[in-house]
Amino acid sequence: MGLNCAIDGPSGAGKSTIAKELARRLGFVYVDTGALYRSIGYYVVSKGAKTSSAEEVVPLLGDISIELKYVDGVQRVILNGEDVSDKIRTPEISMAASNVSAIPEVRDFLLNLQRDIAGKNDIIMDGRDIGTVILPSAEVKVFLTASAEERARRRFEELKDKGQNVVYEDVLNDINQRDYNDSHRETAPLKKADDAVELDTTSMTVDEVVGSIEKLIIEAQREESVPFKKIPAFRRWLFAIPRFIVRVGFSIVFNLKYEGTENLPDHGSVILAGNHRTWFDPVLIAIRVKYISAYMAKAELFDHFPLNVIIRAVHGFPTRRNSADVSALTRAEEAIRKGYNLTIFPEGTRSKDGKIGRAKSGVAFIASKCGVPVYPVGISFKSKLHFRSKITVRFGKPISPEELHINSMSKTDLRAAGELIMSNIAGLVDSDA
Ligand code: C5P
Repeated sequence: MGLNCAIDGPSGAGKSTIAKELARRLGFVYVDTGALYRSIGYYVVSKGAKTSSAEEVVPLLGDISIELKYVDGVQRVILNGEDVSDKIRTPEISMAASNVSAIPEVRDFLLNLQRDIAGKNDIIMDGRDIGTVILPSAEVKVFLTASAEERARRRFEELKDKGQNVVYEDVLNDINQRDYNDSHRETAPLKKADDAVELDTTSMTVDEVVGSIEKLIIEAQREESVPFKKIPAFRRWLFAIPRFIVRVGFSIVFNLKYEGTENLPDHGSVILAGNHRTWFDPVLIAIRVKYISAYMAKAELFDHFPLNVIIRAVHGFPTRRNSADVSALTRAEEAIRKGYNLTIFPEGTRSKDGKIGRAKSGVAFIASKCGVPVYPVGISFKSKLHFRSKITVRFGKPISPEELHINSMSKTDLRAAGELIMSNIAGLVDSDA
């Protein structure tokens, strides 16, 4: 069974925009339940029946089969074999959906379909009664609201962008009417579940809302996740042998100086974050830290044999740059939970001139998600490297997850945490290096 996040709220509160972005970031399946009611509304309209009449709608249910499909992560609604995803997005069908949704038999008809999908996947499901009726035991429940005027403005912009000819006042009336219908119907009226977190999005950005819910989901995942493990002692001893040999080799080729080693962790499951100067930075760190580390390495390196075999042998895994690589973040978390450290270079690319760049959001995200400290590492050397060049590797004091002050997983919070990590790293790098 997966983790279920229910997002309920009135029309236009931003549920679908938020839910889609959340699902993309977390690699969850997004289920837009409004589309199910819309497709029933669409079917009833296409048969010329009255959408508010239970007598006319209920007999039609037997002819309806609805399926949800995902094409490139985007939900498509298949009604009796036809993809109606685009056709159900008109104001006429919005009102039809609102009407049919008040009929108890329609709600019953859709109940199992919604529960079946939720049972199989990690999902973000949005609607009106998800937290109260469909998934009462969802791990995360959110009730999104916003003023009717703001919701109407958003819906108006959305419809206009789609090229539909709409008038703001009509959209506002529509929203008010649907609010009334949704909260006054007898079966499963729109209402906040007692244990839902209410978010008024009127003056919040999409990123802020997504970040706040993401944080709730991550906390729920942390509660459910297996406790951290330790790497068995024999494996650490086994790894100590090649580490010693490589360390001797590197000490012959370079004049290596390690400082701040008293700050080194005496256990696994931490993040070591350094500035990125050379391709062998991971080696410089690994030969001095007792615990085995996993590494994120750019995906292209895995295209070359035997490099790919070597990187995998030292617990490297691929990450695609310039994108939120959900699978790489998951691999990083798995490694940390198994007791490995994670060595990461938050800037992503190597710095040719030694200047410290900006951190990508991954490092702060993983630290916060796993609740582990970040140990900053500064690597310094002057100009071009040659035989016996002096290289200084300095280890700093750990930064706790609390010090990173990540209140939500919003870009702003992650960026601020990334800046804090980079400034700690910068403090460990020689200014003339
Ligand atoms: O969310 P969306 O605007 O697409 O939903 C269309 C209509 O379907 C809503 O106005 C509401 O009446 C109904 N609905 C519902 N329960 C849900 C989702 C939507 O009653 N879980």
